[in-house]
Amino acid sequence: MQQMYINGRFTSGQATETIPIINPATEEIIDEVPRGTAADVDTAVAAAKSAFASWKKVPAWERAGMLHTIANKMQAHAEELTRLLTEEEGKPFIENEEEVFWTYDTFNYYAELGRHERGRFLPPGDPDQLNFVIKEPYGVVACIVPWNYPLLLLAWKAAAALAAGNTIVIKPSEYTPLATLRTIELAFAHLPPGVVNVITGYGLEAGEPLVRHPDVPVIAFTGSVATGQRIAAIAAPMMKKLHLELGGKDPLVVAEDVDLTTAVSAVAYSGLLNTGQVCTSSERIYVHERVYGRFSEELAEFVANLRLGNGMHPQTDIGPMLRDHFRVGVEKQLDAALKAGAHLLVGGKRPSYLDKGYFLEPAVLVNVNHEMAIMREETFGPVLPLMPYTDFDEAIRLANDTQFGLGACLLSHDARLVKRFFEEVKAGTIWINDPLTDNFAGPFGGMKMTGGGRELGQEGLDEFYEVKHVHWDVEGKLKDYWFPY
Ligand code: NAD
Repeated sequence: MQQMYINGRFTSGQATETIPIINPATEEIIDEVPRGTAADVDTAVAAAKSAFASWKKVPAWERAGMLHTIANKMQAHAEELTRLLTEEEGKPFIENEEEVFWTYDTFNYYAELGRHERGRFLPPGDPDQLNFVIKEPYGVVACIVPWNYPLLLLAWKAAAALAAGNTIVIKPSEYTPLATLRTIELAFAHLPPGVVNVITGYGLEAGEPLVRHPDVPVIAFTGSVATGQRIAAIAAPMMKKLHLELGGKDPLVVAEDVDLTTAVSAVAYSGLLNTGQVCTSSERIYVHERVYGRFSEELAEFVANLRLGNGMHPQTDIGPMLRDHFRVGVEKQLDAALKAGAHLLVGGKRPSYLDKGYFLEPAVLVNVNHEMAIMREETFGPVLPLMPYTDFDEAIRLANDTQFGLGACLLSHDARLVKRFFEEVKAGTIWINDPLTDNFAGPFGGMKMTGGGRELGQEGLDEFYEVKHVHWDVEGKLKDYWFPY
């Protein structure tokens, strides 16, 4: 049984019930966490508010040292954290190793960026004046995190918010709080009490009180569009700063000039990493008509050979989905597409050889069109729907035919196509020939219904600063432009 973390100590708070944590590969309960309440949120926010008064004054170099210590301690316990992530979230161990590395190195990155600059100096309007911009922390930041990358998506918020001098209250997903709590225990004890707090619980019971709390001026949220819309509606009357990273329906375009073997591998990776449960999963694949036939056959063969299983087994390529109801959601989308004329080349079924776990065989789907939900709504599962296109105008029109704007990928070595793609496709990240790879220094986020926040890079730090312009007339003499005219 785990506990929440409030004001520097582990506690069950006011919770009288617990939430079971289930391993999606075995369906076993592996632990439980307190079902946090609004009263616990109040205590955590009060602790964070009180800690902010001194945390914001800690010199940036000292804060940087503390963030590096977090990174070092996480690195020292990387294997344990990787195992916990694999058990609670399900993706293969090797993918979780990557997640843990990217997480601790995000703390290293923001440790340094946070002490680099704190505003800018402006050319004054008059020689007697000084003009400058100061970046200041807001106060208490709510970090509300989804389940698909529990540590990484926490780090993108927490490392930047802390480096900027804010204090934080974390609300991990009710499905995947274990690696977060263990990380806090292993790597955060040296921070002053109240700077970091964790409330476990359900979205409505523990997340929403955070959003509603008058002492929480910033909501940093990654999750579904529906939850993001609800949070925005609640926060609007209080004019809170919202940082929303929502769903996607990313396109991937395969140009005629590609090497098919490389393209098949790239598409399988970009659509099936973490069993397709990635916000930037390629969920719509457009293939030039001249290579479409061979590409679909080779992709179906490649996907049929991927090995499903428990993420703890080193041979596993594809883990389970997180829960049965998410699997049922994908099956329903698939069913509707098949009824409307789509055709499965491979997969889409529950594997008969695995009697436990929320597994779904990765699917390659053809004969799809943009009338089908599977090409319009987020799937968040292991499905690769393929559509042929005749020319690049059509490919770009199809890529942009979506309410979302998170990522987009092109596989091509034709510089003219590449230039058109990154200029004309509306998405926050454009990948050419290397889908789904992040760079600490490159901002990550979406356009359109995906929300407008940015994580990583300088942009991801600036999300957690308020900006103040100081106009200082040092001499303070009488002005000839004052009254009377
Ligand atoms: P979700 O919206 O159901 O939950 C996300 C978090 O919000 C959880 O911690 C949940 O408990 C909390 N929450 C739920 N209701 C709330 C409320 N009313 N008030 C406050 N908090 C509340 O999303 P999920 O199922 O955990 O994650 C999957 C979604 O996240 C997908 O849509 C995916 O595309 C998206 N996602 C986006 C990005 C991105 O960077 N754009 C990254 C990863 C995941």
